[in-house]
Amino acid sequence: GPLLTGRGLTRRYTNPGRAPFAPKTFTTALDDADIDVREGTAVGVIGESGSGKSTLVRLLLGLDSPTAGTVTFDGKDVDAAASARSLHWLRRQTGIVFQDPYASLDPRMSIGRIVGEPLWALGIDGDRRARVREVLEDVGLEADMAERYPHEFSGGQRQRIALARALVHRPRLLVGDEPLSALDVTVRAQILELISDLRARDGLTLLMVSHDIGVVQNLCDEVIVMKDGRIVEEGPTEKVLLQP
Ligand code: ADP
Ligand code: ADP
Repeated sequence: GPLLTGRGLTRRYTNPGRAPFAPKTFTTALDDADIDVREGTAVGVIGESGSGKSTLVRLLLGLDSPTAGTVTFDGKDVDAAASARSLHWLRRQTGIVFQDPYASLDPRMSIGRIVGEPLWALGIDGDRRARVREVLEDVGLEADMAERYPHEFSGGQRQRIALARALVHRPRLLVGDEPLSALDVTVRAQILELISDLRARDGLTLLMVSHDIGVVQNLCDEVIVMKDGRIVEEGPTEKVLLQP
């Protein structure tokens, strides 16, 4: 079966009433979404801002609980309501990169600590220092950068650092939530190529949220189109994106 599935995923947010005793209203950020991500594929999620892309990703990674629906990874139930043990297991299998590499890197921590943190948090043994240096080289940085601090680096280098951190524990699934959107065009192309190379080398499964169709066309085999919290279209990239 698929590596990752979501079934009937729904997330409603309660909006506070405007006046005392005013009736509450709800925003349905995600409405009854079904998704399958097969191992080794690259799936793109596109749609306008507010269409529910981040909500979908958060639910799939156990970072938020669905109002309704289920998530499985490799056949095991793993939504945020699952046991701490299965969430820990899910974290080991997945890595995530967000849009803003400034926000995700703690300025007080050395690059080595930032990148190595998942190894500590997940209790992964072995030569952690060596693994940190190795993954820095994998993302096109120098191993000696481990001794330095985030403020010394450009946006593109920081996004490589964030990618190293997402990959250090050798996840099977890499998730990107607009990972290229804050980068200028040249750097974006470089990081795109890097992700594509790492995917080919390691057989990574990818789930990429983007509002940039070019990114998805470049990287993804399959596309999911979202609108108003619903999946309105899905299929092979060339079919979904090149329709008249
Ligand atoms: P996208 O990633 O496609 O921009 P989101 O998943 O972030 O969309 O948001 C989908 C909808 O859910 C939007 O209407 C957004 O305002 C709403 N929403 C997202 N997060 C929250 C929240 N924490 N509280 C209330 N509404 C939210
Ligand atoms: P320590 O260096 O005493 O182990 P730190 O808090 O400095 O503790 O770092 C924690 C972990 O972060 C290290 O075990 C390693 O995984 C990673 N790390 C920190 N600095 C470096 C570095 N210079 N090179 C490689 N990995 C590093």
